[in-house]
Amino acid sequence: MNMAYETKALFREDAYLSTAEGTVVAINDRGGIILDSTNFYATSGGQPGDIGHFERADGSVIQIAATVTGETKNEIIHVPAEGQAVPEIGEKLVLHVDWPRRYRLMRMHTACHLLSVICPFPITGAAVGEEESRVDFDLPDPSYTKENVTERLMEMIRANSPVSTRWITDEELAANPGLVKSKNVRPPMGNGQIRLVLIGEDGAIDSQPCGGTHVSETQEVGEIHIGKIEKKGKENRRFRIRFGSLPAGA
Ligand SMILES: [Zn+2]
Repeated sequence: MNMAYETKALFREDAYLSTAEGTVVAINDRGGIILDSTNFYATSGGQPGDIGHFERADGSVIQIAATVTGETKNEIIHVPAEGQAVPEIGEKLVLHVDWPRRYRLMRMHTACHLLSVICPFPITGAAVGEEESRVDFDLPDPSYTKENVTERLMEMIRANSPVSTRWITDEELAANPGLVKSKNVRPPMGNGQIRLVLIGEDGAIDSQPCGGTHVSETQEVGEIHIGKIEKKGKENRRFRIRFGSLPAGA
């Protein structure tokens, strides 16, 4: 049986660490690299894990094709691309996240939070992507259009509200059930601590439990638009968020 390792998740405290240092603590039976700490986000909560490369002391690199969680949510496994060298246990590595990709994911992920403010309905699914993200809502109301939602999203982005995080206890969350917007995904309870993502001063605009990576002020999201709103069943609507401005006449 494998023992679960605890990786210090540096991205939780600082989403902007494009480079960090880590020491190899284990290589699992499938060649996955486990470090004492990492700035590589592991696939979770609808946000894809990071790719990038590790730099060894001799300057050679190990390409990382995926980052996932292992035995527990706190064990982070870096999956090397095929044919990469295997580092030694105890070896120190410099960890380089593919930053242009991750930054797009941070912008998109933050946009999903803003969308959930504009559409205050239960979320039934979500996926953050580099080119496009989607959020599914239990939303029977047909008055939401690509145009009016895009306009409100861009207003919130231009207002440049701060985005921050705060840790609360399981008890505080239990006392405020309204914080949880997702119908199917429960926040990670049981560790005693839950991370809230706040938008606006003290979360004046929004606060919800989330373990993902976000930009630190809304204007960094940049120009985005709703590319499509699809009706999925009687009560469900899928919103697709894309980069760039709403195409004229679309
Ligand atoms: Zn989030």
